[in-house]
Amino acid sequence: MAQLKCPNCGREFVRRVSRAGPLELFLSYFYVYPFKCQLCGDRFRLFQWGVRYVRVEEDRREYDRMEMNFPVSFYGQDVAGEGNVVNVSMGGCSFRTSTKIESGTILNLSLQISKDVPPVIIDAAMARNMRAGTVGVEFMLWQQSERERLQLFVRGLLIGRGVDLEPLVSRPEPLLPR
Ligand SMILES: [Zn+2]
Repeated sequence: MAQLKCPNCGREFVRRVSRAGPLELFLSYFYVYPFKCQLCGDRFRLFQWGVRYVRVEEDRREYDRMEMNFPVSFYGQDVAGEGNVVNVSMGGCSFRTSTKIESGTILNLSLQISKDVPPVIIDAAMARNMRAGTVGVEFMLWQQSERERLQLFVRGLLIGRGVDLEPLVSRPEPLLPR
């Protein structure tokens, strides 16, 4: 099978994502599945004759997060602190911190991806979940230039570890609602 490429940016870091809604469920019977580019975030559908994907129920996340360790500083309306990023993707990151952060808090983040370059600034990230001193945030708003800098960094990580391809089966999956 040819390596899948993103129609938007042309890179091959593409992940299959969950089908959303009855149309995509229907289309999958005709070998059309949704994918998401791990770099530019483009979500697209692709037809591959005879290729049937196994459903992955547990992980509905659209980006793979990569294990990491670099410093982050953050501030929000009533909170400020520092921490250590433990994983990152183009969609968000998780970091360890001793600062208490409420779910739903909007944070400005400075991701110190390397000692040699200025931090990547996320203008707004929303705290989604926290457990055992680790906060998961989703990137909401950032300058295009910062997004491109993080893309370069993430691309380096993706190249470093190779691309995980989803397992394939040849039999149709049962038509069951989620
Ligand atoms: Zn792309």
